[in-house]
Parts: sequence; structure tokens; C-alpha cells
Amino acid sequence: MNGPVSVAGVSVAPGERRHLFPSASESYTGDRTTLPMAVLNGTGDGPRVFVTAAVHGDELNGIAVCRSLLDTLDPVDLDGVLVVVPIVNVLGVQIGSRYLPDRRDLNRSFPGSHDGSMAARIARLLLDEVIQGSDVGIDLHTAANHRTNVPQVRVDTRDERAHDLAVAFGAPFVLDARMRPGSLRETAGDLGVPVLTYEGGGPLRLDEGAIDVASRGVLRVLHRLGMIDDAPAPAHAAPMVLHESRWLRAERGGLLELHVAAGDHLEPGQPLWSTVSPLGEERATHEAGDEGFVIGATTLPLVQPGQALLHVALPGDRVPVEDDPTDEEDDDPEITEDR
Ligand SMILES: [Zn+2]
Repeated sequence: MNGPVSVAGVSVAPGERRHLFPSASESYTGDRTTLPMAVLNGTGDGPRVFVTAAVHGDELNGIAVCRSLLDTLDPVDLDGVLVVVPIVNVLGVQIGSRYLPDRRDLNRSFPGSHDGSMAARIARLLLDEVIQGSDVGIDLHTAANHRTNVPQVRVDTRDERAHDLAVAFGAPFVLDARMRPGSLRETAGDLGVPVLTYEGGGPLRLDEGAIDVASRGVLRVLHRLGMIDDAPAPAHAAPMVLHESRWLRAERGGLLELHVAAGDHLEPGQPLWSTVSPLGEERATHEAGDEGFVIGATTLPLVQPGQALLHVALPGDRVPVEDDPTDEEDDDPEITEDR
């Protein structure tokens, strides 16, 4: 039999669902800005799991996943505790921005502090009330501006438990991604809480496919942890586990014609894209150098030299090095150098 659980100073009884609104910030007019969260305390013993979304304020798919999860789950049928935070970056989401109003990236601001920047304070609130004391976390993201990601789960595959849960999630790809300093995943990992980072779709839109993969995936992880009796079928029966990835960049400026799509399997020599001048002259064609899978792609039809166009993951058991170029947690490849 499970006992009461206390989150953000509120006690939640077994079999109960409570909505909590701890203070995260204040507006210019002095109104309280809260960090809304739902706590489902199951009737039976089990692990404590958190699901977070919109750590980047323009990444909306995860908010829809949280809604679907809260529509589906009943604490009476749950073993363990589930904490759902549909919008972590409560300041960024109000201005449709990936970042905080002070331009800080919340996912580089962990563990945060009570007297630090706007981002540091929200990070610390989430750490204190949600991450600490959890057994597993799932953090829902999308690609950054003008890009889309094929549904994929990023974990440190050396962590066997995280690897097992990432495969159970059932997204088409599992990507081995080392920790980034200041990320939610790194901070939780330092506390012994493995976090699965889900990436699917792009910012400022709802992508039904990416939402469906993640809605099933979260339930499948809860089932794998023994928290619920039934789980939906996986979106993909056998996720491909990939250990290395790189961004392919444009060499010429102009109009972009992509010859492949997100999710495609690439063969060496396969044409990937052409760049065409506004007068219709072909300026460059780029071919695949290695076998790989397109796990992310630009959505902009205009390109300049150096612009990241395709994110390609490479098959094989190569052991990634510590400075692995994988752009964990959907770093904007135009801002963060990937080599
Ligand atoms: Zn993100």
C-alpha cells in the first residue's frame, strides 16, 4: 500500500490527483506566475516518475502529450507517483520563445539557484519540487527554429536502465547522447535520476505524429516500470539504436531542393539536396558520404553556405567520444558549434 506524497508543500493522498501551482516568477504588473503541475499518487507502491515539457518555450508537442497523459491516467489504477509539468518554461512560452525573456536557455541553467537569473530560479524550483526524489524522468522536446526532428529518444546508452526504457518507449530511433553541462538531463543524472529526452517535430506547431509516438511512449515506459497494467502498442517495434550523428551543411547559397525526407535511410552516393539560383541555375548537389538515417532536417527552403540542413545518424557500434558532436537536447546547430 502506498502512502501520501508531498510535492511543493502539498500532501497528496494515495489514489488522489492534485493540481499544484507553486510560484515561479512575477509579471511586470506584479501578478504571480506559477509552474502548474499535476501529481497523481497511485494506490500501490511503485517508482516516482516525472514528465516535463516546454523547457524550451516554443516546443509545444510535449504540452499536448501531457494533456493526453492526464486524460488517460487514473491514480486509482496507478502504482507509484507521476508528476506532470506540461510547461516548464512558463516565461518563454508566453512570448513564443525557446528562451527566457533574458535570452537564457533554461536547459543550460540547471541546477539553478534561488537568487540567480530568471532561468536559474525556474530550474531550481523544478529541481527542488520535481526532479529530487524521482526515480526516472521523461523530458519532451522538439527541434529548434526552422527544423524538424524525426521522433527519437536521446539517452546515455551506457546507462543500462535508461537504455532499456528508451527502447521500450518505441520511437523509431534511440540516439546515444552524452550529457550537456547545465541540462535538465545532466543535473538529474548527477542525482541518480535517469532522464529520457524525447525529440519529435518542430517548434510552434502541433505535430500529430510526434505527439502520438510520445503519448504511447510515455505510457509504455510507465508500463515497463510496473506502474500501469496495460500499454499501447509501440510506434516502432524495434527502435534503431544509433551512436553517432552529424549535421550536414550547405556549401552554396540559394534555393534548396531536398531530395530526401526526415526519417529516410541513406545510401552512400545518394543525392541529398541541390542548391539552385533564383534564375534556375543549379549551383551545387550534395551526395551522402556514408550510410545513415536522416533524424532531423531544415524546413527553410532558402540556404546560405554553412547552414545546417540535415542531421544524419550513422549506424554501427562505434563508441562515441566525450566531445561527441551529437546536438543533445536539440541545441540550435547555428548557435552551438558541433565540432
Ligand atoms: Zn528543446
